[in-house]
Amino acid sequence: MHWTAQHVLVALHAPKGNADNTARRTVAAAQQLVALKGGAFSILLLGASRAVPDDLLHTGARALYTCDGSRTGDDTGDNKDDNDNNDAAVFHPEDTPRLVACLQHALDTTGADTLLAPADAPFNELLPRVALLRQWGMVSRAAAFSHSDGRLRCHAPAHSGHLSATWQLQSPGAVLTVLAAEFGDPSSAPTTAPAPIRLLVAPPTTTEAAHRTPQYLGSDIAHTARPPLGEARIVVAAGGAIRSDEDMRLVETLADTLGAALGGTRALVDAGLMPGHLQVGQTGAIIAPDIYIAVGISGALPHLVGISAAKTIIAINTDASAPIFTRAHYGIADDFRRVLPEWLGQLRVDPQAD
Ligand SMILES: Cc1cc2nc3c(=O)[nH]c(=O)nc-3n(C[C@H](O)[C@H](O)[C@H](O)COP(=O)(O)OP(=O)(O)OC[C@H]3O[C@@H](n4cnc5c(N)ncnc54)[C@H](O)[C@@H]3O)c2cc1C
Repeated sequence: MHWTAQHVLVALHAPKGNADNTARRTVAAAQQLVALKGGAFSILLLGASRAVPDDLLHTGARALYTCDGSRTGDDTGDNKDDNDNNDAAVFHPEDTPRLVACLQHALDTTGADTLLAPADAPFNELLPRVALLRQWGMVSRAAAFSHSDGRLRCHAPAHSGHLSATWQLQSPGAVLTVLAAEFGDPSSAPTTAPAPIRLLVAPPTTTEAAHRTPQYLGSDIAHTARPPLGEARIVVAAGGAIRSDEDMRLVETLADTLGAALGGTRALVDAGLMPGHLQVGQTGAIIAPDIYIAVGISGALPHLVGISAAKTIIAINTDASAPIFTRAHYGIADDFRRVLPEWLGQLRVDPQAD
């Protein structure tokens, strides 16, 4: 018996209000998958205390499950500040046994043969464990699905984005993480009744599972007023041309003036000028902003993989033959130290002001 994706369980991080881009595009991935063979899908929201977003109720999901796997269970408790400022901080490593139990319980309850989630925290940690426990095959960072000779296939970038690998699973079930930015908005199913909402209570975890989990001692979260990288409509990204704090301040001023998120290349992360979670690219975030402004970025393929779904790319680079210009919709072949102050001047901001 091979994998047919008869019933896909879409696991999402319960959003605070409306579903975010990542959640909506992950649902779109499930819609694309089930459309290939006429299957169905349900949605599981981890972190049950939040209200269920309306926009997820009308996507054609068979049912919407909520299951609380977080350490605090709701927005009260020690890590309230973390929750208020950073969704990714709601779950901690020591939640792992509870979250795996939630996912297992939801698969048992729904009878789903496929577990699908966005390729980000905490799912990158959780899904391999579920695949192992169920002895199902797993494909990470799928960007598309297809159907051929009666078999489903997953397509995922490989080798720094130089090729797209095609996978065919041999097991009866499948565990998939998807690059949400590669999928558009989900289609709504306005004629159908809203999906019923059901609360799942995860069974208690075993002591053995808890012992295998690292003990969480705390976190150091950078508080920022900027929008999250994966959600922002505008992203200003800095590359290896940035050499100093002063350079960085110019880029940050542009980001803040435009209400944009800040991102960067691995060159900048490796140089210690940007934290790793802001890296864009194959080994960083895959994003789909409306506008991506690349400041001093060469346009190496592993970086371009992260912005292939960006609608408009604006590049500033002194080297007119830099590969970024082959992808950019608008290009400025000039020194960013000249271009950005002028640009900020047009926007009437003093780049030297704190
Ligand atoms: C397995 C693997 C995974 C990787 N994953 C990622 C990833 O996820 N994300 C990622 O970004 N990279 C990734 N890389 C690294 C990637 O290959 C490149 O090395 C990196 O993206 C280069 O970053 P950069 O363009 O900012 O820096 P550089 O290559 O140093 O380019 C700097 C650019 O700035 C221009 N410049 C210099 N001075 C100025 C100036 N004053 N004004 C304007 N322009 C100027 C230069 O002309 C040049 O084009 C990965 C590599 C490997 C092998």
